[in-house]
Amino acid sequence: MNRSHILIVDDDAALLQALPQALQLRMRQVRVDTAESAQVALERIAKVDYDAIVSDIKMPGMDGLALLAHIRELRPETPTLLITGHGEDNLAIQALRGGAYDFIQKPIEREYFVASLQRAVQARQLRRQVEAQQRTLAAHAAALEATVAARTRELQDVLAAKEEFMSIAAHELKTPLTSIKALAQITRKRLVHADRPEGELVARMEGAIGRMELLVSDLLDGARIEAGKLSLRQEPTDLVALCRQVIDEQGTDTQRTIDLCAPEATLWTQVDPDRLSQVLINLITNAAKYSPPNAPITVGVDHDEATVRLWVRDRGIGIPLAAQPHIFERFYRAPEAEVQTGSRLGVGLGLYITRELVERHGGTITFTSDPGQGSTFTVTLPRLPAPASVNEGSGHQGRHEDEDGVN
Ligand code: ADP
Repeated sequence: MNRSHILIVDDDAALLQALPQALQLRMRQVRVDTAESAQVALERIAKVDYDAIVSDIKMPGMDGLALLAHIRELRPETPTLLITGHGEDNLAIQALRGGAYDFIQKPIEREYFVASLQRAVQARQLRRQVEAQQRTLAAHAAALEATVAARTRELQDVLAAKEEFMSIAAHELKTPLTSIKALAQITRKRLVHADRPEGELVARMEGAIGRMELLVSDLLDGARIEAGKLSLRQEPTDLVALCRQVIDEQGTDTQRTIDLCAPEATLWTQVDPDRLSQVLINLITNAAKYSPPNAPITVGVDHDEATVRLWVRDRGIGIPLAAQPHIFERFYRAPEAEVQTGSRLGVGLGLYITRELVERHGGTITFTSDPGQGSTFTVTLPRLPAPASVNEGSGHQGRHEDEDGVN
């Protein structure tokens, strides 16, 4: 136990002298203050945080019970022992009810008195230690919180800088790429016109430029999404017509047969036709990329009361189980999934953008995939009753190249 500081309050001068002496003899390192009245005691208590207080109950002026009530207000943590006269059980009960730590009956039995006081002091000192530890812990927690907040801010700044860099880089790449594409086209035409075999080389160059354009376009879309600047131009759109158009173009590009399974002649939904075409192109491109050149790809549309569904099925390599929870994450590519057909181009943005586009339309995208058997991606969108005045084939192709200016 640390050095303890005790206050004894009694109007009996003899006791006020005897008790401290008894304590000095029995308790090590004790410091005892005395007060001859409750009033004097209160002045002391206001200044000193005692380890324990001992007070007689019967005193002229303010008695021990009233003093106890004041102590409970001023120093609720300080244990207080009250001294009662012999047989004054009622007072003793009142003392305990009033929050006294213990009561000591006269004539005071020294051993009991000292033992009870020691327990009181110990309880008070333990409580102080706990409070100190709690303060230290709270300070640690506050320091930790401040560190986490500072690190989070730093991280957010770095992420913002990264997004800005990506957006600027993609924009800066786009313009020279458009010039190179135009020049390559002119060069190829001239070479073909002059019957020169190098025309074939330039055609391959154009293919590479096309893929780079798609990549830049994905990077720009990724930046637009992150910046919350991806805009949609939604209009009533016939899903069946849109699928036919995309399948025709993609079938030519990927040189495969893509089947369309559409039980209805038309199916209307409210979408941005360019963006929904982009969704379908991404899904067909993946189906082609991750399946052998001769494996079939099927696109299907169907509906129920409130929704239309668009699905793309391939008989390709499927998605490894471990990769399945992650394929919609930005820049995620399944580590061991080899591209089966076409170029290896892809940075893991395709499905991220696809899901974002679908969700922006109020839809959902899900998939099922059996490794080695193939995958089916299904997009569900709100259905629209066939509008009377809308022409079929109002959808158009091509992305909104210059819709915003993300940087
Ligand atoms: P990318 O194709 O550019 O790598 P995506 O975001 O389009 O990026 O796809 C993420 C990953 O999901 C791909 O790396 C691939 O492993 C897997 N994946 C997507 N579609 C298919 C599919 N139809 N069949 C098998 N794996 C697929």
